Amino acid sequence: MIFNKKYDIIVIGGGHAGIEASMASARMGCKTLLITQKISNIGTLSCNPAIGGIGKSHLVKEIDALGGVMAHVTDNSGIHFKKLNVSKGYAVRATRVQVDREIYKNSIQYYLKKQKNLFILENEVINILIKRNKIIGILTKNKEKIFSRKTILTTGTFLSGKIYIGKKILKGGRIKDFSSKLLSKQLKEMQFNISRLKTGTPPRLDIKTINFKKLLCQKGDWPIPRFSFLDNKIEHLKQVNCYITHTNYRTHEIIYENINKSSIFNGLIKSKGPRYCPSIEDKIIRFENRSAHQIFLEPEGLNSIKIYPNGISTSLPLKIQKKFIHTIKGLEKAKILTPGYAVEYDFFDPKDLKYTLESKIIKNLFLAGQINGTTGYEEAAAQGLLAGINASLKNFNKNQWYPKRHQAYLGVLINDLCKKGTKEPYRMFSSRAENRLLLREDNADIRLTTIGKKLNLINDLRWKYFILKKKKINYIKKKFNELYIKPKTLKKKKIKEILKYDIKKEISIKNLLKIPQINFKILEKYKIYQNIEKINLNFIEHVEIDIKYKGYIKKQKKEIKYNNFNKNTLLNRNFNYAKIKNLSKEVIEKLNLYKPSSIIEAYSISGITPVAISIILNYFKKNNQFKII
Ligand code: FAD
Repeated sequence: MIFNKKYDIIVIGGGHAGIEASMASARMGCKTLLITQKISNIGTLSCNPAIGGIGKSHLVKEIDALGGVMAHVTDNSGIHFKKLNVSKGYAVRATRVQVDREIYKNSIQYYLKKQKNLFILENEVINILIKRNKIIGILTKNKEKIFSRKTILTTGTFLSGKIYIGKKILKGGRIKDFSSKLLSKQLKEMQFNISRLKTGTPPRLDIKTINFKKLLCQKGDWPIPRFSFLDNKIEHLKQVNCYITHTNYRTHEIIYENINKSSIFNGLIKSKGPRYCPSIEDKIIRFENRSAHQIFLEPEGLNSIKIYPNGISTSLPLKIQKKFIHTIKGLEKAKILTPGYAVEYDFFDPKDLKYTLESKIIKNLFLAGQINGTTGYEEAAAQGLLAGINASLKNFNKNQWYPKRHQAYLGVLINDLCKKGTKEPYRMFSSRAENRLLLREDNADIRLTTIGKKLNLINDLRWKYFILKKKKINYIKKKFNELYIKPKTLKKKKIKEILKYDIKKEISIKNLLKIPQINFKILEKYKIYQNIEKINLNFIEHVEIDIKYKGYIKKQKKEIKYNNFNKNTLLNRNFNYAKIKNLSKEVIEKLNLYKPSSIIEAYSISGITPVAISIILNYFKKNNQFKII
């Protein structure tokens, strides 16, 4: 392919941020160049071959609602689907999918190659070209200049990436990959605020050497859920099982005895790692009273011989990795195919970004993904999408767009990062969102697809499907509102036993569904309402959730108003937050460290969620311990 020297948009990096960024800008009509070190590695899942999880799956649904590829590709490559938090409220329910690593990567590359307006080049960017504080293009390793109006930097863990295994240090953003040294050097000479973070990965094990008979089997969900809102007719791949095992006293003893050989504890790595995905060394030290830690054994693919042992990320020397792994039930003879390692990399202070992800320091330069201090494929992809949207809007001289906190988890992510910054890898959780009853998985398309259409992100097929969904939803709502059930019928159908009380008057389906014990499945089971038209059950569930949540949403809005009203509340700087039972360990740790003098100051600390603020306010109100100024 012949490459022109001028593009509307250049995206540097073919990771999860770069993929969504380049796809979005190309969809919006910009001539886009994706330049990355290795084309064959585009879409690589650096660590865990899994997409989604609590808070993260909401981001994936939002990416999908705005026309992105992540959810669709996950559906096509998923080999183990699971709904999480099913016993809890709908707002915190999430989807997590184990994917076939190779099929995921190939599927991403297929969609990229098919995308109109998108060109892909294999090369390393060693410099960005700046003129009067504006980025105008890039310089490649073979000294070729390529110009652009806007540039998106999505280099992930590669800027001065260093890999650690015990005392061994290798250059690279990922094992068997490059480090981006020259670009990092140039950026460090500019005015950016750059620090270091670290992350890690466990060793991969040979499937043939694991004794699964000894282990607890975990099956995926049936019926198999789907991630994408598209009515995907493609059949799911063959589904596989995951297995559960645990570390034990002997495992901990070996790790403890060798702790000084770990790169994290021998002084080689000084930067912070992800709080919610700590290394096994971290876990042993931080939770010394725990006698065991859970490990999920997850297949990397249908034809892969690799097993990913989720929960034992490590940077101990290979010899020690082998030794502690062999103490674990089922892994006594496990062969390590690739060692676990830690990686340290540069990240840029996200407070130097506008909410559109454009740099406040260099004009027309956008930054997205792990480079902004986040961790996770989903967080990276969501930022990539937003950067792609805004780079394109700016290219067309149109107004910029970003979602607000009450509109999307993407809004929460951007607001948290750009307002508060971060000192440790930022991971999305549902507890970070104060409006989480509004921001559910099931309504991501209702919240965002119309906006996506206006932004030119949505293709005809997706739009047609979305309109159909809205029509069906309105139809169900109308039916649930109009259809009344007689008390006699309810009695006959034994609903009284479920309710433990009698319904005296005629009641609409809508009002029946407001009762916590009743749900659509029960109505169907007792033949009170039957889905004769065979309407998609996800649409019915969406209406049901809307009905059930109406009251809670009202209450939540009131609570947010209350929090805002009390933001000037003074706090006692000597207070020990460990006294407040419902606060998480992270929140207690941070509040006790920073000792905020007011609610507003507490809220400005990264990791202090709106939910935590509500808990603090309630505690002080009950204990009469604050005054309002
Ligand atoms: P990346 O996926 O890192 O992609 C960066 C891209 O930029 C690469 O394609 C690279 O080749 C390219 N690039 C870099 N420099 C240049 C240059 N100068 N010129 C051209 N191209 C360049 N996340 C999870 O969700 N769960 C996990 O368990 C997990 N564990 C991890 C373990 C390890 C060891 C690593 C490395 C990461 C882990 N992550 C995990 C993080 C996850 O991989 C990242 O959050 C995610 O991949 C970030 O996406 P990204 O697009 O920002 O960057």
